[in-house]
Amino acid sequence: MSLHRLKRSDMAPAVGRDIDNWCNRCKAELAHTILAMVQGQPARVRCNTCGSERNFRMTKAATKRPSKRRVATTAPAGRKPQQQLHRERFERRLAEIDRDTCVAYSPRMRAIAGQLIEHKTFGYGIVDEVMGTKAMVSFQVGMKTLAVNR
Ligand SMILES: [Zn+2]
Repeated sequence: MSLHRLKRSDMAPAVGRDIDNWCNRCKAELAHTILAMVQGQPARVRCNTCGSERNFRMTKAATKRPSKRRVATTAPAGRKPQQQLHRERFERRLAEIDRDTCVAYSPRMRAIAGQLIEHKTFGYGIVDEVMGTKAMVSFQVGMKTLAVNR
């Protein structure tokens, strides 16, 4: 099983971004949100699927990642920060979706692109892309990778 097709998770780790880590509760390698960084490495993470928190442990997958230096792109003056652009776009999309079609997020849900979901940590989310048992979902806080179709 290749977990490394998700190109977007190859972004440099940063608080709020996703990283794959073993979840003891879900008993699977799943996307986690980085909660804290220490010396450029994720230190504390939370499972996107069950919400449990743990210290990040370097897996082989994480250590072999090429150490391409990515300069942190701070928004130039006068431009809206990425986060705000994302939030505005997300809220526009959300406004167009009928809330009655919303389903509660569960890793067992059958995810379809365009589906509105409600996640207990991230709130409303819109499924952007489904890849087998993973889905990229837009939340107000940003993109998250969630386990689905389990
Ligand atoms: Zn979990």
